[in-house]
Amino acid sequence: MQRIHHWIDGATVEGASGRSGVVFNPASGEQAASVDFADEGEVDAAVAAAKAAVPAWRSTALGRRAEVMFHMRELVDANRKEIASLLTAEHGKVLSDALGEVARGLENIEFACGIPHLLKGGYSEQAASGVDVYSIRQPLGVVAGITPFNFPAMVPMWMFANALACGNTFVLKPSEKDPSASLLMAELLAKAGLPPGCFNVVQGDKVAVDCLLAHPDVAAISFVGSTPIARYIYETGTRNGKRVQALGGAKNHMLVLPDADLDMAADAAVSAGYGSAGERCMAISVVVAVATIADELVAKIADRVPAVKVGPGSEPDNEMGPLITGEHRDRVAGYVGAAQADGATVVLDGRDGAPGEGFFLKPSLLDHVRPGTPAYDDEIFGPVLSVVRVQSFDEGLELINSNPYGNGTAIFTRDGGAARQFQFDVNVGMVGVNVPIPVPVSYYSFGGWKASLFGDTHMYGSEGINFYTRGKVVTSRWPDPHTSKVDLGFPQNR
Ligand code: NAD
Repeated sequence: MQRIHHWIDGATVEGASGRSGVVFNPASGEQAASVDFADEGEVDAAVAAAKAAVPAWRSTALGRRAEVMFHMRELVDANRKEIASLLTAEHGKVLSDALGEVARGLENIEFACGIPHLLKGGYSEQAASGVDVYSIRQPLGVVAGITPFNFPAMVPMWMFANALACGNTFVLKPSEKDPSASLLMAELLAKAGLPPGCFNVVQGDKVAVDCLLAHPDVAAISFVGSTPIARYIYETGTRNGKRVQALGGAKNHMLVLPDADLDMAADAAVSAGYGSAGERCMAISVVVAVATIADELVAKIADRVPAVKVGPGSEPDNEMGPLITGEHRDRVAGYVGAAQADGATVVLDGRDGAPGEGFFLKPSLLDHVRPGTPAYDDEIFGPVLSVVRVQSFDEGLELINSNPYGNGTAIFTRDGGAARQFQFDVNVGMVGVNVPIPVPVSYYSFGGWKASLFGDTHMYGSEGINFYTRGKVVTSRWPDPHTSKVDLGFPQNR
């Protein structure tokens, strides 16, 4: 059985804790590998390697740091298929989707190639007589990333590209469910010229996470995962004096107004609801249909779903792969049964006809779903699309704003005024207008509101640069014998 190890100080390190986890092939349901789980000593070794690498890396010329990112960009580009195959093998997502994940991750490395420009500070000459003032941004030191199973390549790239380019060193604790992509990225970073110790991977579970949260040499934590764990990471990390950004779960609504192009809306609902088997934090899980068009919209969605090809992600024609584990598949399937008992209409039941082997579930469509029932209230994180019917734009907006999550949302309409009002009033961090999955490009920043984000800074883009640096302002005067005198008053500028 293949064993997946750690990466510490520029080399593979076999775990010695005696603890490990199971990595499945979700398309067959069989164990594919086991992954070492780090203990405190192994986390300490990774943090120590990262700490030792800080002085040289933060002193490395900006042009050289940019060059390493350019090399990494070329290597990820050349290895797209290899990275995507690893994602398909361990996560289960279809190859085309896995390639999309790599492409969206790569954008963040491309953004980080511009680090000399991104770290430019400000300069004010003659702020007082003979005095100049300038601001600079400096790296934090050792920073850590803790990432979820659903984007094993992209989410780490959201973090380490900017963190490293800013001059920090990095310790990654990837999801234990699909840990291999991180190791491949570690190898590529080493090939790109990143010195040993600058990027480390500790595999593991809560034990490794808790060590990072408590470690005095870790200055900041970036986390992406479910809301209860995000809240825990934020509370524990900040209590320990760390800077923390913790992105949580989601329940993303798509409001469809009567004047929308209903074919476009139905295509979008199917793509965004069932893509990656609904295991995306930006997946649409609730279609909010204004009642006058609800029957027609539900029929259009239901017409399209049977054509979605469900099967192993490695087969090129398939459009939707399995879920991550058998346990998760069963949990998701449970929502379909419960929804029926709660009075919803099961228009399509994904429990019927799913491939027998592997963790498969076909797409489910639930109509007349009501807030206050688990199908609406919980983040299902699977291929289950709920339709909630409302009477008006205002009722739809109120529903979305009352939801505890605020990651992504979309409005489908031809009315520019309605779209603008929606954008103005909706309490959600990422908004799409006739775009169902509005993941910001890498030169904006990613993050939700409310229970979808704990912390003040969104991830990647300019907010990512701010997160991984802190500001310093220098006020400077050079000796000038003509102006020098003793003056005990408070310094003034005029
Ligand atoms: P998860 O919260 O179970 O795990 C995330 C990470 O936390 C993993 O590395 C895991 O090992 C670690 N972890 C799990 N339990 C822990 C505990 N008790 N203490 C300390 N660490 C723990 O999330 P997941 O199931 O891997 O990923 C799916 C979730 O992530 C969904 O809720 C999804 O919405 C969310 N997500 C959010 C975003 C976003 O940008 N907001 C992006 C992707 C995924």
